[in-house]
Amino acid sequence: MSSISALVSQLIRPEILALHAYHVPVSEGYVKLDAMENPYLVPPALREEIAAVVSRAALNRYPDPNPQALKQKIRALLGLDADMGIVLGNGSDELIQLLAMAVNKPGGTLMSIEPSFVMYKMIATFLGMRYAGVQLNSDFSLDMSGLLAAIARERPALIFLAYPNNPTGNLFSAQQIEAIIAAAPGLVVVDEAYYAFADDSFIPHLADYPNLLVMRTFSKLGMAGLRLGFLAGNAAWLNELEKLRLPYNVGVLPQLVAGTLLDHHDVLLAQAEQIKQDRSQLAQQLSAIKGVRVYPSSANFLLLRIARAREIFEGIKQRGVLIKNLHGSHAMLENCLRVTVGTPEENQKFIAALQETITQLAQGE
Ligand SMILES: *Cc1c(COP(=O)(O)O)cnc(C)c1O
Repeated sequence: MSSISALVSQLIRPEILALHAYHVPVSEGYVKLDAMENPYLVPPALREEIAAVVSRAALNRYPDPNPQALKQKIRALLGLDADMGIVLGNGSDELIQLLAMAVNKPGGTLMSIEPSFVMYKMIATFLGMRYAGVQLNSDFSLDMSGLLAAIARERPALIFLAYPNNPTGNLFSAQQIEAIIAAAPGLVVVDEAYYAFADDSFIPHLADYPNLLVMRTFSKLGMAGLRLGFLAGNAAWLNELEKLRLPYNVGVLPQLVAGTLLDHHDVLLAQAEQIKQDRSQLAQQLSAIKGVRVYPSSANFLLLRIARAREIFEGIKQRGVLIKNLHGSHAMLENCLRVTVGTPEENQKFIAALQETITQLAQGE
């Protein structure tokens, strides 16, 4: 052993040494249906407009640390009340981190449901914060008695609820979420990463609950490459988070390009609408395949269960289509795969790869 590895394991916190880095598979050359991206670029005329805006960008300057015009566009899209605030993040992942840092007192707890978005737990671990996960019911609905008991027991400073949930795709009961917000002694963040594909939102409830914040990202709507997310809610909370936010967390280019794209929000929403229609068609095709169980989705992906999921995943990948294997990630996701809704052509390539793989595995028996 070199002395450097001895020094590394001496200095780095044990919980960090025990972590595996967030794994992003190599996707070049694949039909990429693994990461909930919007498969569409914007139309050429809008790309020209972006190019013109970018060509004028003052890249020699630091970005505006408080881009009012961009925030104003977002506020207008949401119809946000004047007494509510917005904090921008380098993706919503950064906002999860900010929130956790802000409440991370000794003995404090971050709570979420399981299975859900893995970053909640990972960020708690990064910060040395206690994490408590409450299992969903087997149909992926909220286990209300379990949750309310855990809230009473753990008194979490911060609860994250993904609405719709990732990786299960379902939208929880809004009434049940309200009951959780009412029972929680701390902050409840409703994570609306998939808002464009769902038919409900907690933004209108912000005024009803002083401990509610709503988090959104533009990643799933067609801006994953830009890294822009935001938190909306009572300014009393957001002013505290602003103190922790690194001043230049959203660069010049993301600010300009997101501002331009939001001027054409209708284009992005039309793409989301197309994706929703293709989601129904894909779900229908999948449920017609023997042995495949498809779960209801309000997001831009589908969760499926199929025997020998790991081999199915590999067979699909060998045929040039990359999806997400969830088998082994959580006990409730045994034999589960997650596929992002792509273009109709991509979806058909996925179906063909799946069917060929099923046939091949059956022949090998
Ligand atoms: C994708 C996702 C995010 C992260 O989005 P970024 O803005 O790209 O960091 C947050 N929450 C959920 C539930 C997600 O699925």
